[in-house]
This record gives sequence, structure tokens and C-alpha cells, in this order.
Amino acid sequence: MNLESLPRVRLAQLPTPLIRLERLSRKLNGPHLWIKRDDQTGLAFGGNKTRKLEFLVGEALAQGADTLVTLGVGQSNHCRQTAAAAAATGLRCELLLNGQPPEWPNGNLLLDELLGAQVHWIERAQRAEKLRELETSRREEGRKPYLIPVGGSNGLGAVGYVIAMLELQEQLRALSQRMDHLVFASSSGGTQAGMALGARLAGFTGRVTGISIDRNDPGQFEFEDEIAHLANAGAKQLDSAARLTREDVEVIYGYRGAGYGIMGELEREAIRLLAREEGILLDPVYAGRAFGALLDLIRQGRFKRDESVLFWHTGGAPALFAYARELSGTT
Ligand SMILES: *Cc1c(COP(=O)(O)O)cnc(C)c1O
Repeated sequence: MNLESLPRVRLAQLPTPLIRLERLSRKLNGPHLWIKRDDQTGLAFGGNKTRKLEFLVGEALAQGADTLVTLGVGQSNHCRQTAAAAAATGLRCELLLNGQPPEWPNGNLLLDELLGAQVHWIERAQRAEKLRELETSRREEGRKPYLIPVGGSNGLGAVGYVIAMLELQEQLRALSQRMDHLVFASSSGGTQAGMALGARLAGFTGRVTGISIDRNDPGQFEFEDEIAHLANAGAKQLDSAARLTREDVEVIYGYRGAGYGIMGELEREAIRLLAREEGILLDPVYAGRAFGALLDLIRQGRFKRDESVLFWHTGGAPALFAYARELSGTT
């Protein structure tokens, strides 16, 4: 593995805290729950995209780019962190957001504006076409755009989570702590790809399990294949001979609820429980859903009482404010 040759911009405060959830573990009567606070990566309210952006922006600067271009939904955490990364490195940022502009920007969208990103609203079906158009017109104006894929998920972005696994192994070693399971929200797959590859390279022996927050299980292992493919692209970036297949990737389905970004009782309960037992805020779309799934798996008896389970908090809490109507209430 060759980490040193990849250009990297330091954007995150690392290592992120690794904390025991003692009160909640006791309340649930086991397993031993831990949390890795990647909601605290430090860049404009943090989140998992910051680790990927260290390498993506590193490459953008090495190529002499002057503008970061990426895409997502109005409440995209990835777009907000990209806007912040651009501001922190003196680049411009243009965002292609799909959906309808709200009357007032809130949550991540408000932050995109404050961070100086230029927002273009598009139809989701036109993504590829609008991206090409924007790139062409900027090049004609003499600018140098650097395109970042949805969620920052490509081989280079995944390298951010290879580093994260090395970081975790270091923390566990210092604590003489074993971890049996690692659970987190998976969507565009780059985070899980990096973790799966990083687990292999770092010798992490626990199970790495992504909770799909936006897919139904088609039974075809499409997502598992995508993740393995991203992991192998990451291995190439690192000059590593490691190769993963779908068998190395574990995804749990069944928690998609009414769909991506539609908050239900699962998320509401998870958000309130972690907030009230531990003072930690999840988000309505990703971490809240994945933590709700973890609680459900615990209730189903999926983990032994004396096992240690790490929930990797991937961030997203700024979106809470955009869900005030669904979240507020007296109960
Ligand atoms: C993007 C995101 C994820 C999913 O990460 P992927 O690499 O896209 O799978 C999880 N949680 C939060 C808060 C995110 O913003």
C-alpha cells in the first residue's frame, strides 16, 4: 500500500473520537455499544464526506483545478462539505441539485449558500446532461472544473475510509479493545468500499456491515458488486494488490421505509433515543435510519450480549433543521 504518493489536503480533525455508549448499552441490556464520531470531522459541521474530500480535493489542486463541481439533493451533506472544502482551499464550488428549490433555504442548503457555493437546480433525469453542459461552458470560459461524483464515491474517495480503518485499528489497539461488528449507513457505497478494503489491509477482524438506507434488495448483489468495484478502484490508487468480491461485502436491506429522505418512526425513535441517553445527534436520512436499524437488529437478538458493536456516525445532523416539522413534538 502506498499512501504517501497520493496528494492529500488536510480538511478533517483526526482522529475522530471513539466513545463507549455506556448508558445506552445498559439501557438495552447489551451488547457493548461504541460510536465513532465522524460527525465530528470538523469541516463545516463535519461528516463522512470530509475524509473522501481530502483526497479528491488533493487531486483537484494537483491538476490545477479552480472549481469543484458536484451533485446531490437539496439536503446533501456531501454538497455542503464540498462547498466548505472549496472555501477552505480557495476554489469555487458549483452544485447541481435535483429537486425543487424550497421557499427558504434551510439545513444543508442554507449552509451551501453561506459557504459561497453556486447552486443550479436541475431535474434528476437530466443530471448527466447538465453536468456535461456545465463542464463544457466553464471550460469555454477558461476555467478548470474538477468533477466529483455523487457522494464523492470513486476509488480515490474510498481511500479516505481506508485511512479511517487504519485510524480505528490504532485506537482499538491503544485501548486493547476488540470490536466484533461495525455498523453504519451505506448509500453511494464509497464509505463502505473504503472500510471493507481498509479492514482487509489493517487486519480488522470484526464484521463490517452497511445498512442500505435507500435500496431494496434486488437479490442480484448489484450494490455489493458496486462496492467491491469501488474498493478495487481504491486498491489501485494505493498500488495495493488486494482485490475484493461481493462475498467480502455485507449489506443489510429492509430499512428503506417509505424511501430515501422520507423520515418515519424508525428514524424518529433512534434520533430521540441517542439524543436523550447520550446527548448525541443523529440525522434524519442516513445515520438516524442506520442507527434505527441497529436498534432493531439488537432487539432481534442478532448480537450476543458480550459482543462489542461499533456504530460509525457518518454525520448529517444539519439536515435535522430541514425536518423540524416531522421531528418536533412533545413525546
Ligand atoms: C453520504 C452519507 C452516507 C453514505 O455514505 P456513502 O459513501 O455514500 O455510502 C452516510 N451518512 C451520511 C450522513 C452521509 O452524508
